[in-house]
Amino acid sequence: MRADFHAHTTYSDGSFLDWMVGAAADAGLSGIGLADHCNVSDRPAMRAHKLRYGYNLDLTYERRREAIETARGETDVEIYDAVEVDYHPTDQADIADFLAEAGFDYAIGSVHEVDGVNVHFPEPFRDRSGGERRAAVDGYFEDLAALVRSELFEIAAHPDIVERNEALRGIAGEDHYRRLAAAFADSRTVPEINAGRVTADYGRFHPCEAFLDVLAEYDVRVTVGTDAHAPQEVRDRVPLLREQLADRGLDPVSPFDV
Ligand SMILES: [Zn+2]
Ligand SMILES: [Zn+2]
Repeated sequence: MRADFHAHTTYSDGSFLDWMVGAAADAGLSGIGLADHCNVSDRPAMRAHKLRYGYNLDLTYERRREAIETARGETDVEIYDAVEVDYHPTDQADIADFLAEAGFDYAIGSVHEVDGVNVHFPEPFRDRSGGERRAAVDGYFEDLAALVRSELFEIAAHPDIVERNEALRGIAGEDHYRRLAAAFADSRTVPEINAGRVTADYGRFHPCEAFLDVLAEYDVRVTVGTDAHAPQEVRDRVPLLREQLADRGLDPVSPFDV
């Protein structure tokens, strides 16, 4: 692992750009991709969410680009001007227009919305029946398959993110993994091994081992991202990602090679 392709700065919900780049150097990386959250949906609920949480990269990416250009002159670490875009099938045309206009080095696509709810919140799912939760997980994988088929992104983020939600954990299975692996096999989009919850309560990588087995069966290549929001997370997660890659015999692909 020579680069981390998924990290956040203060241009969304992460830490200072210089700190994240410094942490990449500390972790022995030669590159770091700054992939701040970005939502370009004009759906009222999504607009309200981004205003409330302050996700403004659609308005500030040129300013961040200027900062990246300055920072590039001060470090040996390669800094990639990337983005993590919220994906929903109804927003596809808006996302395509934005990505064409902004011209990032590469784009990560993420499904963060499950049945109209942010996947990080377990409460809305707790009172639902088993059938309703199953339908929510099915819907998540359908949207993720649509993301992969859209060909808008070099990387699909945290491909089984529903597992980090304790109310949705353990529902996904081989059928879901096979459908996704077939979609990845036909697409330029590669899944990432994402360390976003590996040192937290969930304690595993996305995708889980069973999903990785299926991806390997379909010869799907993978890339890597710490999904770090703080410099210490880069330093802590890179060695764990290296261990996981070695255990699985994986050589991660760069988004510049897809
Ligand atoms: Zn994400
Ligand atoms: Zn992220």
